[in-house]
Amino acid sequence: MAALELDLFLCRTDNFGVLVHDPESGMTASIDAPEEQPILDALERRGWKLTHILTTHHHGDHVAANDALKKRFGVTIIGPLNEATKIPGLDKAVRHGEHFDFAGRSVEVIETPGHTAGHICFHFTEDKLLFAADTLFALGCGRLFEGTPETMWQSLGRLAALPDDTTVYFGHEYTLSNAHFAVTIDPANSELKARAAEIEETRCDGGFTAPTTIGLEKRTNPFLRAADPAIRAHLGMQNASDAAVFAEIRKRKDNF
Ligand code: ZN
Ligand code: FE
Repeated sequence: MAALELDLFLCRTDNFGVLVHDPESGMTASIDAPEEQPILDALERRGWKLTHILTTHHHGDHVAANDALKKRFGVTIIGPLNEATKIPGLDKAVRHGEHFDFAGRSVEVIETPGHTAGHICFHFTEDKLLFAADTLFALGCGRLFEGTPETMWQSLGRLAALPDDTTVYFGHEYTLSNAHFAVTIDPANSELKARAAEIEETRCDGGFTAPTTIGLEKRTNPFLRAADPAIRAHLGMQNASDAAVFAEIRKRKDNF
């Protein structure tokens, strides 16, 4: 089986667009559809034809081009059952734990409520590839629009349980500001400090900070590290639950 080919680009202002292409079958999926033109440009640049959209959640900056791309290519749109009525053009609604086939590969649906109530992530199990959209960012996590901190903490736990060498693509290039915040929560973490410096450089040169890996996020992303003794001590929350520590970190980020 040939390796999947990926193409990463920016849409709107800070949304990532990602195309996933199987060179054998020619099948090509867009992870979400934030904006039509940049997706068309990427397809043209690569000589690929869009066959699928994999929708993670109902927010406008993730479904804006669903209808236009469906009209143009007749794509199949796969998205969250729990937001089925809110996803334009949805053909196939999928639920937590379900696997579906994309170009002969198994894609696992991981429900991660919190940012929205029905948000899903797509896990290409054999390829060790995760599309986390607005649940997990590099050094960050999504805002809690439709969920409690407890719910989001549980959702992030599902992603943290994946193998450390899982490659993670995410929904927004927020990493530089996430890094500035992360060091205020976990100031003694030397790997985080080094990563933050690297991110400054990457963004300065106009590069993207995606993808990341589960292992790197577990070691440096404060939103996955609510159990860490140094972070708890720093926040004066040694005896709080992990979810309470996570809630405090999320609250601080909202006001950062
Ligand atoms: Zn969103
Ligand atoms: Fe978004």
